[in-house]
Amino acid sequence: MSDLQIEQFPARTDNYGVLVHDPAAGLTAAIDAPEEQAILAALKRRGWKLTHILTTHHHNDHVEANLALKQRFGIEIIGPEAEKASIPGIDRTVKDGDQFKFGNYDVKVISTPGHTAGEVSYFLPEAKVVFAGDTLFSLGCGRLFEGTPATMFRSLQKLVALPVETTVYCGHEYTESNARFALAIDPDNSALKERAREVQVLREAGLPTLPTTIMREMATNPFLRWHDPAIRRNLKLEHASDEAVFTEIRKRKDNF
Ligand code: ZN
Ligand code: FE
Repeated sequence: MSDLQIEQFPARTDNYGVLVHDPAAGLTAAIDAPEEQAILAALKRRGWKLTHILTTHHHNDHVEANLALKQRFGIEIIGPEAEKASIPGIDRTVKDGDQFKFGNYDVKVISTPGHTAGEVSYFLPEAKVVFAGDTLFSLGCGRLFEGTPATMFRSLQKLVALPVETTVYCGHEYTESNARFALAIDPDNSALKERAREVQVLREAGLPTLPTTIMREMATNPFLRWHDPAIRRNLKLEHASDEAVFTEIRKRKDNF
């Protein structure tokens, strides 16, 4: 069952579209629907026919192509129960802990609110891949439009509890600007410095910095390093709670 195929492609300004294809079942899901033309081009490139959209959250840059694609392909749109009123064309709602089949693969729904109040991530344990929407980015995390730092902290705790080898797909290519902030907070982290150099090389070549992995983000992403003594020292929060450290990092990023 390691034959799941995944196609990531740029869409809009800095979004990523992702297609997930189970060849045995003949199913193809788009993770969010940022842009119709980019998704159609990717489908054509791979010779796949769209059957599903898995929506992470209701923001326009993640649902804008829902109705156009539904009209064209008659697909099923799955998304978070808590945001069903603002997800165009939604057919089936999911909530935390739900599990459903996508072809031969289990999909586990993990509620990861904070960026929006109802955001979910989709975890495929057999394929060891998670689609994290705008909750977790490489070297960053989503802005808190509809949640508190405490909410986002709990969501990120759920994601770092996944197997460390899990591949992480994200909604946006924000890594290069995230790296500047990460280095300001955690300047002596050699894994981070190495990743920042790699990111620069990739972006100069016009290449994506994603997907990433849970292991890599745990080593480099300051939003997952609330326990790290050096970061705590830099923030003068040596004895604060993990949540307080996360809250301070999120606040500094907002003002960076
Ligand atoms: Zn968003
Ligand atoms: Fe977004």
